Amino acid sequence: MHDPNCLFCKITQGQIPSRKVYEDEAVFAFHDIRPSAPVHFLIVPKLHVPSMAQATDEHAALIGRMMVLAPKLALQEGCNPYPDGGFRIVVNTGTEGGQEVHHLHLHVMGGPRPWLRG
Ligand code: 5GP
Ligand code: ZN
Repeated sequence: MHDPNCLFCKITQGQIPSRKVYEDEAVFAFHDIRPSAPVHFLIVPKLHVPSMAQATDEHAALIGRMMVLAPKLALQEGCNPYPDGGFRIVVNTGTEGGQEVHHLHLHVMGGPRPWLRG
């Protein structure tokens, strides 16, 4: 269920503080400590799954739930609505995929970007 050495397991269990965006019995979302967009938060399962490379059919509903949650939380956190607003969902996977924390997470990045507007 949890890996005692995992940073994001510690965050979902409240052992390390975070700026929480959302929590239910299966999913936890919190702001990225080093945001790379005006809105940048992470959605993680409470279950310790190391990466998308380890996701199986058993995790399909959980991952679907995280994906469907992303647009709701994006609006709540200040992203503008589709189509002029929007956001990106990024899932870094493995070392060559840029993954640094080995607990599955969706990056949700967006928010107002005045320099993009005409
Ligand atoms: P990855 O490169 O694994 O896809 O992304 C890991 C993300 O976790 C990075 O964007 C990094 O800023 C974020 N991060 C790392 N440590 C912490 C932490 O202790 N708290 C929070 N809120 N974010 C973290
Ligand atoms: Zn973990």
